[in-house]
Amino acid sequence: MAGRTKFILDEADMPTAWYNVVPDLPEPPPPPLHPGTGEPVGPDDLAPLFPQALIAQEVSTERYIPIPDEVQEVYRLWRPSPLFRAHRLEKALGTPARIYYKYEGVSPVGSHKPNTAVPQAFYNAQEGVRLLTTETGAGQWGSAIAFACAQFGLECEVWQVRASYDQKPYRKIMMETFGATVHPSPSDLTEAGRAILAAHPDSTGSLGIAISEAVEKAAANPDARYALGSVLNHVLLHQTVIGEEAIKQFEMAGDSPDVIVGCTGGGSNFGGLVFPFLREKLAGRISPTIRAVEPAACPSLTRGKYAYDFGDTAGLTPLLKMHTLGHDFIPDPIHAGGLRYHGMSPLLSHIVELGLVDAVAIGQNECFAAGVRFARSEGIIPAPEPTHALAECVREALRCKETGEEKVILTALCGHAHLDLPAYASYLAGDMVDRELTDEDLVAAFDTIPTR
Ligand SMILES: *Cc1c(COP(=O)(O)O)cnc(C)c1O
Repeated sequence: MAGRTKFILDEADMPTAWYNVVPDLPEPPPPPLHPGTGEPVGPDDLAPLFPQALIAQEVSTERYIPIPDEVQEVYRLWRPSPLFRAHRLEKALGTPARIYYKYEGVSPVGSHKPNTAVPQAFYNAQEGVRLLTTETGAGQWGSAIAFACAQFGLECEVWQVRASYDQKPYRKIMMETFGATVHPSPSDLTEAGRAILAAHPDSTGSLGIAISEAVEKAAANPDARYALGSVLNHVLLHQTVIGEEAIKQFEMAGDSPDVIVGCTGGGSNFGGLVFPFLREKLAGRISPTIRAVEPAACPSLTRGKYAYDFGDTAGLTPLLKMHTLGHDFIPDPIHAGGLRYHGMSPLLSHIVELGLVDAVAIGQNECFAAGVRFARSEGIIPAPEPTHALAECVREALRCKETGEEKVILTALCGHAHLDLPAYASYLAGDMVDRELTDEDLVAAFDTIPTR
């Protein structure tokens, strides 16, 4: 088996700026709107929730934003992350394609989430914030922000969806080890939580409810702010370290991707990998196909509406123009918890509308089959979310096998599954379900999208 397996950058080659794709787009994305006035939201509307530095990044039209030294120092705990050539997977598939994966599971919590948790904690600490609040589902985001808060001396309070809090104790232990306080949501600590508990004492919670609780706590405390792990522009911005490194690693490899695939929940690991490549594509230097992969159970990009909708279930957030299934849409309880969001990053939605990125939806059994195939050849057990990207990667590699094309495929392997192994148990036991999502299911959910 000839050729290199890992492409490793020196710490000195780590990016020193995040890349903002907005100024390079043919048109800017539509702004978030205030649900009351219908006018674009201003910095004052966001100030109770986010520090000024992040609000400025959210609306920035600068192409590059310097990464503060303090953030780079923490990044160096795991960055630059490796780019792998998947020689063994290629051989197992018998494909002439060359497959590469950029691996973010080397971070302290095992996913890409700390790439944005660390700068978010840094800017909050710098502006004198004492406490960060957030929500988490299975716990990837909660553990990333708990780790980041520990780095900058912030207190951290996490509302974790009750079902995960009870069934998946390990992420909670991780958050507590980093010093965070974790509440099951709904809780009796907020009005939003108490209202739900009054109506449904046995509620197992949802991300939407947990967001409402974390937002309520931050808004009521002048020295507290709220942190979000995906969807917003500044989150995707911070993740572009992934793609900037990958570009340098492809130079080392003397190769260039023809197809780039990533999974999309709120769009942050995907945007982080692909935006720097999109810059090169828009400048005419490369011309890869760029493809988002989402679960068939939650197909916002492929079957959603491109419309203004709320980011949360309770309707507390600004209206975001995005691909949405309706903010009341409750996807089937699939194992890729990070991909069960009704909407999509407004920036990525806009880029899909511009025709610069395409999208496919794949059912979870095919995804886990790809995850198992990957684990048996490459030795890393992928988190349930990136198995979606791997499934498309396998499809593409098998198409190449038929046509004999030697395409270069790049995929984002945004996390490992060490705390999600019950998902593999379910797949291996043969009891993982793919329910067909009917047009009727979707029409009912579309009814909750505000008309504007
Ligand atoms: C949170 C998460 C996702 C989904 O979020 P994106 O913003 O779409 O990246 C995907 N994979 C992993 C491993 C996650 O933790």
